Amino acid sequence: MVHRHILLLTFPAQGHINPCLQFAKRLLSMGVQVTFTTSLSAQRRMTAGTPEGLKFVSFSDDDFKPGDDIQQYFPLMKTNCSQIIRDVITTSSDEGRPVTCVVYTILLPWAAAVARDCHVPSIHLWIQPAAVLDIYYYYFNGYEEDIVKNHNDPSWSLQLPGLPRLYSRDLPSLLFPSSLYAFTMKTIKVLVDAIDEESNPKALVNTCDALEPEALKAIQNCNLIGIGPLIPSAFLDGQDPSDTSFGGDLFQKSTECIEWLNSKPQSSVVYISFGTMIVLPKQKKEEIARGLLESHRPFLWVMVRKKESREEEKEEEEERLSCMEELEQQGMIVPWCSQLEVLSHPSLGCFVTHCGWNSTLESLASGVPVVAFPYWSDQTTNAKMLAEVWKTGVRVRANEEGIVESEEVKRCIEVVMGGEEIGQEIRTNAKKWKELTREAVKEGGSSDMNLKAFVEEIGVELE
Ligand code: UDP
Repeated sequence: MVHRHILLLTFPAQGHINPCLQFAKRLLSMGVQVTFTTSLSAQRRMTAGTPEGLKFVSFSDDDFKPGDDIQQYFPLMKTNCSQIIRDVITTSSDEGRPVTCVVYTILLPWAAAVARDCHVPSIHLWIQPAAVLDIYYYYFNGYEEDIVKNHNDPSWSLQLPGLPRLYSRDLPSLLFPSSLYAFTMKTIKVLVDAIDEESNPKALVNTCDALEPEALKAIQNCNLIGIGPLIPSAFLDGQDPSDTSFGGDLFQKSTECIEWLNSKPQSSVVYISFGTMIVLPKQKKEEIARGLLESHRPFLWVMVRKKESREEEKEEEEERLSCMEELEQQGMIVPWCSQLEVLSHPSLGCFVTHCGWNSTLESLASGVPVVAFPYWSDQTTNAKMLAEVWKTGVRVRANEEGIVESEEVKRCIEVVMGGEEIGQEIRTNAKKWKELTREAVKEGGSSDMNLKAFVEEIGVELE
């Protein structure tokens, strides 16, 4: 009998957990056993709707919340998670269902060494675009000095293999020494070193061949395997209509939002979300708010709040936007919604997005045009790809102080939703990418075939 058991490890941020849960569901449907490991606090939040048959083993942690400093979290996570890998491998082997492959995501590169120590193969699941992995690879292979020296010059650009010409604002912000999170580059270096050292390096990537045909081949000798988009089936291939959420109680049904959307005309609503981590400063929110009011279009705005204590509640009150009443008349503001349900609603006209990779893929797979409003990390590169490669939207321009003014917000919404030729082209492109991304995961599509080939490889014969 061929036996397959994957130990899947992920950093406990929602944007990491979502694609991993989806990956786990696909594996389970192919008869692979999956043990899913993330932090205890993240697992506690996932009380409802987690995939049937998925085994959870969590490592203990202090609760990690939006806006927290992940730097202080790292050493604790490394120690606890490494121990879990060893324990799961030993216990599973004793139970006669050995782990046949360890799959780990970004920020946990040391998992490979622990797995190797236990004589179990491992592979990285890259949950950002292949283009961003390429940029990190070339940064550590010849381009570091050039990038560090020139990144403050907006007119400077570089041409890397398999990628469009990139200007400083297109590069992931982690590359710049000024980035608060530059320390995470150490974890990325471990990954890049592994690519250079291994004889047959490869990684699974949450993308598909159609989206990134050249970026997937841009690192010589490294096999980047597109297996995405990792999005629940009901919103993608429709093969499993009951598969409507990633899993976890954060993914409640958005009944109220959907009812509100039902009352709006087709393609009329602007949806705004900056993902699960970014808490926008008040000034930036005020500009977006005024841009929305001036656009006179209905909108649904997810405003992430960091409310953990009385004091923060008070701060939040002070943060209340000056035009809140007008906003509430024109649109709806919520702390959370089921984004995929919203993106696939016929009333939706455009998505003002921070360009997190999940949101980017979800916009493409739902055929929704975007106003790309990146903030940090890979979002700047994703915005570049959306606006200039896939051409499903426009990217905002900030003023000299880094603020995107209300006029600019309004202008971008009008370009994407208005009747000009450029808006029509953008909407046609969005429809095209909806088809192509869905094709990839259908039976026989490129991502489906790639995933099947990977699953074939990780089997072992058991008596
Ligand atoms: N999300 C959601 N509802 C919200 C906000 C976010 O369902 O109100 C989901 C979204 O669909 C995506 C994930 O949370 O799957 C956010 O991941 P992304 O990579 O876009 O951004 P991050 O939060 O990691 O910055």
